[in-house]
Amino acid sequence: MDQKLFKYADLLVRAGGNVQPGQPVVISSDVADAGFARLVSECAYNAGASEVVIDWTDELSARMKYLRASDEVFDMFPPWRTDRFKYYDDRNAVYLHILSSDPDLLQGVEPGRIKRATKVMREGTKAHRAVTMTNERRWSLAAVPSPKWAAKVFPELAEKEAVEKLWGLIFKGARADGENPVKDWEAHRNNFLKRVDYLNETQFSALKFKNSLGTDLYLPLIEKHIWVGGGAVGRDGVPFFPNMPTEEIFTMPARIGAEGRVVASLPLSYQGSLIEGFWFEFKNGRVTDFGAEKNADSLKLIVDMDEGSRFLGEVALISNNSPIAQMKTLFYETLFDENASCHLALGKAYPYNLAGGCDMTERELAEAGANDSLLHVDFMFGTEDMSIIGIEPSGTEKAVMEKGEFCI
Ligand code: ZN
Ligand code: ZN
Repeated sequence: MDQKLFKYADLLVRAGGNVQPGQPVVISSDVADAGFARLVSECAYNAGASEVVIDWTDELSARMKYLRASDEVFDMFPPWRTDRFKYYDDRNAVYLHILSSDPDLLQGVEPGRIKRATKVMREGTKAHRAVTMTNERRWSLAAVPSPKWAAKVFPELAEKEAVEKLWGLIFKGARADGENPVKDWEAHRNNFLKRVDYLNETQFSALKFKNSLGTDLYLPLIEKHIWVGGGAVGRDGVPFFPNMPTEEIFTMPARIGAEGRVVASLPLSYQGSLIEGFWFEFKNGRVTDFGAEKNADSLKLIVDMDEGSRFLGEVALISNNSPIAQMKTLFYETLFDENASCHLALGKAYPYNLAGGCDMTERELAEAGANDSLLHVDFMFGTEDMSIIGIEPSGTEKAVMEKGEFCI
């Protein structure tokens, strides 16, 4: 196990953030994952990091704060936290995030508090998110199983077995179980390139999605969109993988124009509640109606966050035969679940999905047709019988996916 963990930590540093000699590294980790965070630190120093800083969090204290703190603190984001991000952004830091949250952590917390805290946090970290979302700073997310998370995924198992089983799926899903995972990820990147190149050359003006679950969506893509998959390339030309695992190829829909119905194919775990059996109705790009069999309140929190959270910011294609799709497991963690099936995101679009987008101001992005919001929430809608038709600018239709698998 030690060797496996070390390889996984090294993978996060070398393939994930791709730390270069002389760069500071900021690791965010829960105190419960201190052991793994220290391994990541060691690997970062091995890669030549100038300094490793750990941004410790404690999810149990965070829950206590939500339950017991004075109400006004949920509208405040201390300026020193904004300054702290700026300090490391200015020094070209690489950000590595270790995720292990209990999916039920925020159960019973008043949703209004979460919404307000999220809003001020998003506002306070706007400049930092701008440099990570445009790939000016490199970053990567990887997961470590906590006992509570593992128990949620495998409620039928004893805690220890559940954690071991989840580790197994994480190593496999993150392609970290081979002899040389860093090499395996290079090969993974190359496999994406052909399909991404085809999609970028073809420049479909729209995609049509249909399946037996009830999805029937016409989705125009933004003009000059860029499909991204198999990792990202930093503005300094250094490649990295923001998410480990990653199986998706994704781009930017046009803000205006989506028409039809989308039915989710997997539940969405959002801030402590599990939204199940949900759907959206789109008219001219905007969510005009929505519903859920369970936790519709949480769905409403997403949709009503701001005007942009009613519009789409991402469309991602994933084949049925990806390792995570094959696991047929609900992870209650977007990092894994979003690699299980085709998905859409409500909210902010990634500027790098548009030619020249990273050099545009917010206003120019909006004028080009990119969506903006404080949120970016992925939800799954792919199925084994998903069919996707691409419409070329000439009007010619071309099958992109049949029965959940790529035909391009
Ligand atoms: Zn995605
Ligand atoms: Zn997304």
